[in-house]
Amino acid sequence: MSDCIFCKIAAREIGSTVVYEDEEFLAFRDINPVAPTHVLLIPKKHVSSLLEVPEQDAPLMGRMLTLAAKLAGQLGLAEDGFRVVINTGKNGGQTVEHLHFHLLGGRALQWPPG
Ligand code: 5GP
Ligand code: ZN
Repeated sequence: MSDCIFCKIAAREIGSTVVYEDEEFLAFRDINPVAPTHVLLIPKKHVSSLLEVPEQDAPLMGRMLTLAAKLAGQLGLAEDGFRVVINTGKNGGQTVEHLHFHLLGGRALQWPPG
């Protein structure tokens, strides 16, 4: 989508610190990290939120989830643990309407979230 900030990041029209890329996905550092490691993982294909993932993209979502675990390992988070978060909609705290996983680690995270 032309006015979507994460589509622009995926198209390299907006700069970011990329930590992983393949044909389907991009992972980059959050501009406003809330943990020592805070990476955003997005599908390059625009999907506005988890609620909008079409049924036929279930395999893509499966690959995204296994990639999140692989990246967590590469980022050094596997031993101590980490969190994968998908904020969705107003009450979920979603501010960017392009599906993204937050990979958070490097410190003990509180539960329940605020
Ligand atoms: P949400 O609140 O939608 O779950 O998460 C959106 C995230 O995107 C926020 O953590 C925010 O800091 C991050 N973000 C917003 N704009 C940019 C940007 O231009 N570059 C990067 N790297 N992160 C961004
Ligand atoms: Zn987008």
